[in-house]
Amino acid sequence: MGSKVQAIRGMNDILPGQSSIWQYIENAVAEVVNSYGYHQIRFPIVEHTELFKRGVGETTDIVEKEMYTFDDRNGESLTLRPEGTASCVRAADQAGLLFNQIQRLWYVGPMFRYERPQKGRYRQFHQIGVESFGMATPDIDAELIILTARLWKKLGLLEHVELQLNTIGVAEARENFKASLVEYLTQYKDELDEDSQRRLETNPLRILDSKDSNTQKVLENAPSLDEYIDEESQAHFDRLQAILKANDVPYVINRKLVRGLDYYGKTVFEWVTTHLGAQATVCAGGRYDGLVGQLGGKATPAVGFAMGLERLVLLLETLNLVPDVAKASTDVFIVSMGDAAELASFKAAESIRETVPSLTVLRHCGGGNFKNQMKKADKSGARFTLIMGENEVEKNVCQVKDMTTGHQEECVLDNIAEYLLSFLN
Ligand code: ATP
Ligand code: MG
Repeated sequence: MGSKVQAIRGMNDILPGQSSIWQYIENAVAEVVNSYGYHQIRFPIVEHTELFKRGVGETTDIVEKEMYTFDDRNGESLTLRPEGTASCVRAADQAGLLFNQIQRLWYVGPMFRYERPQKGRYRQFHQIGVESFGMATPDIDAELIILTARLWKKLGLLEHVELQLNTIGVAEARENFKASLVEYLTQYKDELDEDSQRRLETNPLRILDSKDSNTQKVLENAPSLDEYIDEESQAHFDRLQAILKANDVPYVINRKLVRGLDYYGKTVFEWVTTHLGAQATVCAGGRYDGLVGQLGGKATPAVGFAMGLERLVLLLETLNLVPDVAKASTDVFIVSMGDAAELASFKAAESIRETVPSLTVLRHCGGGNFKNQMKKADKSGARFTLIMGENEVEKNVCQVKDMTTGHQEECVLDNIAEYLLSFLN
């Protein structure tokens, strides 16, 4: 016998005990995005490497060091998608869905980044992304944020997350700011952390994001981005805030919020929590009016966000917010003795499933004596156990045992679904 092959580090199995929490979150998201008129889009997990180089940006963490890139058998460079926005734009534009049109799209699925695995940070993780195209005005930025707030409310998370908001202006404003930031920081280059020193040349805005305390200290007296924001972006930002206020969505302005990806402009936002340690951001997004053009399409305004499902699962578990309905459970367990009762038990099980599809009905399979079958019924956690033997089959009935009280009574098989329905559901 050979040794067992293990999963890849940082790539997790979602086991049966966990998958119902995932379904609970995914169902909640699907319901919320549907209620805002968003349509699901599905695209491949693998794309040409160039898509992410151009879409995410050469100088981002993702492209510099996190991508799973490999050569196809014909020598073409392919990459496992590290995020969804570039693929979403590629797919929608390729299908002619973007130019001069309005689209509200969402997707869910695995993303891949070569990062150091730790709590809330994995190499295969899952995102739900929501992207809208063709709308340049701040009302759509607000709609997306209000949508996320509704989702938090639905999941019981609203008071456990904080909305951080910023505007990073148009490209020209950012360029002007970058120039003065670089000029200022260059004087203190030796005091910056290694990553920030490198970013001084590649992606200076990201230095604002640095977690290094020395770097943060140097930044205290650095020029501030808000002094460089253009009038149009400021008006956009003001209107966004007015709409959020009118909708009672609280937020804080974080002038250092810049986001790690190249494609953002104007609005950026994050929902953060204090309950997950360093992996504090559960949802992040913003406006990216330049991306469609950057990927070769006709200029199309766009705004969107992505949320990390692992972090949401962790958050719900940490806060004890996983409702019972999100835990898989058995409602009815059926035991039978003898061939005729076995056949009758199939019939009973199917008639219950037909009449009340929402119930989970477990028919005991694999034989065994009555006592053993009843033990399994106990263990299943079912509210009711149906017991069928030769006598019951002859009379066309079954015994129904209420597992919470131990009370047992006979029920005519033809009425079994209605009988159960009167207690369950
Ligand atoms: P971080 O600063 O935590 O690395 P990021 O800026 O790289 O996040 P985005 O690319 O904006 O993250 O992705 C959006 C969301 O996806 C994050 O807020 C987070 O919830 C989730 N996410 C990102 N990377 C990972 C990962 N490696 N493992 C689990 N979730 C992740
Ligand atoms: Mg990251």
